[in-house]
Amino acid sequence: MDLQTIALHEGYTKDSQGTMVVPIYQTTAYEFRDVQHAANLFSLKELGNIYTRLNNPTTDVFEKRFAALEGGAAALATSSGMSAIFFAIANAAESGDNIVCAKQLYGGSLTLNTHTLKRFGIEARYFDVHDMASLEALIDEKTKVIFFESLTNPSIDVADIEAITAIANRHGILTVVDNTVATPILCRPFKHGADITVHSASKYTTGQGLAIGGILVEREDLVSKLRTNPRYEHFNKPDASYHGLVYVDTNLPPYTLRARLSLARDLGAVLSPFNSWLFIQGMETLFLRMQEHSKNALALAEFLESHPKVKKVNYPGLKSNANYKNTQKYFEGGLCSGLLSFEVASLEEATKIVNATKLYSLVVNIGDSKSIITHPASTTHQQLSDEELAACGVPAGLIRISCGLESASDLIADMKQALEA
Ligand code: PLP
Repeated sequence: MDLQTIALHEGYTKDSQGTMVVPIYQTTAYEFRDVQHAANLFSLKELGNIYTRLNNPTTDVFEKRFAALEGGAAALATSSGMSAIFFAIANAAESGDNIVCAKQLYGGSLTLNTHTLKRFGIEARYFDVHDMASLEALIDEKTKVIFFESLTNPSIDVADIEAITAIANRHGILTVVDNTVATPILCRPFKHGADITVHSASKYTTGQGLAIGGILVEREDLVSKLRTNPRYEHFNKPDASYHGLVYVDTNLPPYTLRARLSLARDLGAVLSPFNSWLFIQGMETLFLRMQEHSKNALALAEFLESHPKVKKVNYPGLKSNANYKNTQKYFEGGLCSGLLSFEVASLEEATKIVNATKLYSLVVNIGDSKSIITHPASTTHQQLSDEELAACGVPAGLIRISCGLESASDLIADMKQALEA
C-alpha cells in the first residue's frame, strides 16, 4: 500500500459498531477470561491486553500504523520523543558501554547522552555527521549504538545514512536514527540500512502542537543482526526479569518486545490512549502536510538567501546547500520538511529579528501548522557551553524557523519586514 493509504487505514479493523474513527480505549486494565487466559498472556503464549503500561488497543493502532508508514516490523509508543530515545539506547547499552553519536543532534538529545546517560555509566562519543573516519575511529568492542538524526535539528544537515549504516554493519552495531524532522513521509531510513528509528510524535505527527509523545520503530528481521551477536548478549540469554525469556527466540520483533516488557514495564514512560488517538488523527493528513511544509520552507529559504542581512541559509532543498546531494538521495522527491535556519551577524541582530516578526510565534517547538521562530542559543541549546554550541553548529546569530502551513507569500512578507525593521 502507498503511504497515503497506510496513514488512513493500517492497524484498525472496525469494531462491532462500525466506528469510522479509531475508538479511544481509555482504560487502565483489561479483564482476563479466566486464570489460564491471564497466565497465557503473561507468558506470551497468547498475545493480548494486560495493562495499559504494557499495551492498549488505541495505542496499538498508532504503533501498527506508524510502523507500517516507516516500513518497519513493530513499534513501541512512548510518553515523549525523549523517552523513545532513552528506550532505544537503554535497550542496547548498559553501564560500561558506549554509544557513538552525531555531534549534530537536538539539544535535548545531546544533554541526555552527555550528562544523564553518563550517570548510568554509558559514555557518549561524538562524530561529525559528515566525517565517516571520525565515526569509525570511535568504535570499540563496547560500542552498542550509533545514533544520529536523518535531518538534524537545528543545524539542518542531512546524514549519509548508507555510509553510516555500512560502517555499523561492518562492526555488527545497531544504528538508531532519529527521523523526527523528516517523518516517514519524506525519509525511510530502513530502506538505507538503519535498524531502529525514533520519533518525537510531538512534532509533525500531530501537526498542530497538540500533545507530547514518541515512538520507537524496529526494522524487519532485526533478529538476524542480534542473534549470536556478542555485543547484544542480553537478547540471546534468558531474561531473569521475565521468566527466562530469550528475546531472539520468540518469533516476535525482539527490540520492541524487550523495550516493552522490560523498559516500558519498569520505567512506565508510555503514551496515554488519548494522545495515541490525537496522533492517529494527525497522521491522516501527514502526507499532504509534509508536501506543503516543504514547499513553504523552500520558498522562504530562497527569499532569505537573496537578502543582504542574511549571512547563511541552512536548507537542504537549496541547490547551493552542501547537503543537497544527500537530500536528493534520501528524501522523497527532494522534499525536506519545514525546518530551516539562517544566520545573521550577531546575537543582537538575531534578537531584533525574532522580536519583530508577527506571523511567527516564538516557541520552542517545530512541526506545527503555525509557523514558529526560535533562537536556539538562548533556548533549546542554552545548557550547552560555547564550545558545545560551536561543535553542534549553533552560532549565537542562528535563527531557526519551522515553516507552517500559512501562505508562502505571507511568510516571506513578514520575514522581510522583520529583517528590515
Ligand atoms: N528529537 C528531535 C529531533 C526533536 O526535535 C525533539 C524535540 O524537539 C525530540 C527528539 C524530543 O521530543 P519530545 O519533545 O517529544 O520529547
